[in-house]
Amino acid sequence: MEAAILLVEDDGALREGLCELLAREGYQVQSAACAQEADALARANAFDLCLMDVGLPDGDGVSLCRRWRAQGRHFPILFLTALDEEIHVVRALDAGGSDYVAKPFRTMELLSRIRAQLRTHKGAQAASGALCVDFERLTASLGGESLFLTPTEFKLLSALMRSGGRVLTRAILLEALWDEGGRFVDDNTLSVHISRLREKIGAARIETVRGAGYRWVNLP
Ligand code: CA
Repeated sequence: MEAAILLVEDDGALREGLCELLAREGYQVQSAACAQEADALARANAFDLCLMDVGLPDGDGVSLCRRWRAQGRHFPILFLTALDEEIHVVRALDAGGSDYVAKPFRTMELLSRIRAQLRTHKGAQAASGALCVDFERLTASLGGESLFLTPTEFKLLSALMRSGGRVLTRAILLEALWDEGGRFVDDNTLSVHISRLREKIGAARIETVRGAGYRWVNLP
């Protein structure tokens, strides 16, 4: 499944160039030209990584990073900094940034740093609006309140949140739920797990697609 990347960059030409580059590499990219736009996108979507310019017209990427960390958003944030912004690099990493690339950067180096971050954070955490999930620690919270989910519900949630908005058929979900002991979860049990999960995280996050399966819906 392609990683979803949020690109925050106010330089229009650079933003378009990076969007094209990342899409060509097979990533799903959404871009924002200012901090406010980026914040709105982060609330409404689940991203695997953010590529963040430091100097933005309505604030700076570092403050936004600090705010996201305080809200429990854990996706890696890779900062794009200008050469004369050394001091920003220190601030950026202190604020919870994962890494940085100085402008002008070499394309290959940027892509390699993105891959490194995605490898490190692979599968650990995901957020969709107010819903934050850590698939390694098996913890989840909704609007800051802890949720108590069963291992099966975590598996379902993982498949749904990482589907990139595609419809997941019941067959695909059943396969995801096939337990370690080789015990097959039957179709009826799947419906029960889905409905319990809906009760915990909000029914509207899991859309039923009649005759096909289920689709993850990113909500605030
Ligand atoms: Ca800038």
